[in-house]
Amino acid sequence: MNPTPRVRIAIQKKGRLSERSVELLRRCGVDFDVRTDQLLFPSSSFPIDVMLVRDDDIPLYVYEGICELGIVGQNVLEETLAARAVNVAENVRTLTALGFGKCRLAIAVPKGDRYDGAKTLDGKRLATSYPQLLGRYLKSKGVTASCVEMNGSVEIAPALQLADGICDLVQTGSTLVANGLREVETIFESQAVLVQTQRPLEPEKQQLVRRLEQRVVGVTRAVGAKYVMMNAPRSALEAIRKIMPGMESPSVIPLGDDGQKVAVHTVARETDFWVLVEQLKAVGASSILIAPVEKIID
Ligand code: ATP
Ligand code: ZN
Repeated sequence: MNPTPRVRIAIQKKGRLSERSVELLRRCGVDFDVRTDQLLFPSSSFPIDVMLVRDDDIPLYVYEGICELGIVGQNVLEETLAARAVNVAENVRTLTALGFGKCRLAIAVPKGDRYDGAKTLDGKRLATSYPQLLGRYLKSKGVTASCVEMNGSVEIAPALQLADGICDLVQTGSTLVANGLREVETIFESQAVLVQTQRPLEPEKQQLVRRLEQRVVGVTRAVGAKYVMMNAPRSALEAIRKIMPGMESPSVIPLGDDGQKVAVHTVARETDFWVLVEQLKAVGASSILIAPVEKIID
């Protein structure tokens, strides 16, 4: 008899995506012990082995089917596969965006330099760790500029006269400002994604992948969501709906015999819950309860 099949997931070993990737897996019921300096960590709670690697290697591992799954930034996914002339959309299946690791790939120039549109970059030298994505962008704009490829500290290139501008990842923009640079174009928006290999999987493995995907989606959807419960006069329902326009299918339960008082239960997300409570009270809601949501499963 075949042993129980297991799947592999590659995540970043050390860096900006590591903590959130490990946390996501744990919330999906994938526990593993990162104690030693190993490559592969078997989970005891789900038939999956977690591979801890550099983020730049994840797309290739998934593309080649060395790992069935991976968690990686879209920027790295596109760049590293384009460098191998592999089309991402055709060769890797993106199962879901994960809502973390958000950043953008942007072009920036010294803050005093004139800039009026991509054509300004013609004939210029741009320092970047993303020659593929930058090249694709420049081509789409019909601009000829040269890429100065650097592996890190791209933002100091203009000050060193190595380049006239840069193309780098930006989250808040503070690094650019600190280096006297001004952001002029966003060429790619990125976040972490869960990806699956396109290589065919045996049915048992595909089923494991599907189970994990469903858990990941359930956990990711719950981020920023709260379960809100309150009592209110039925006449206040309209006002409550106005305060919570994004309210997801509220349950309205009559309280008492005359039905004039109701309990309202709903999921709300991405809001200032203290302000929400104050607004709800102001229209007559009472006994307001706000509870965390762990998973949202359809
Ligand atoms: P590794 O050693 O694994 O190669 P790294 O140094 O290439 O790590 P990190 O700096 O840890 O990579 O970034 C990993 C990913 O985090 C980036 O590719 C990007 O998708 C995302 N990210 C989010 N915000 C930022 C940011 N401000 N700067 C850089 N990357 C960011
Ligand atoms: Zn990297």
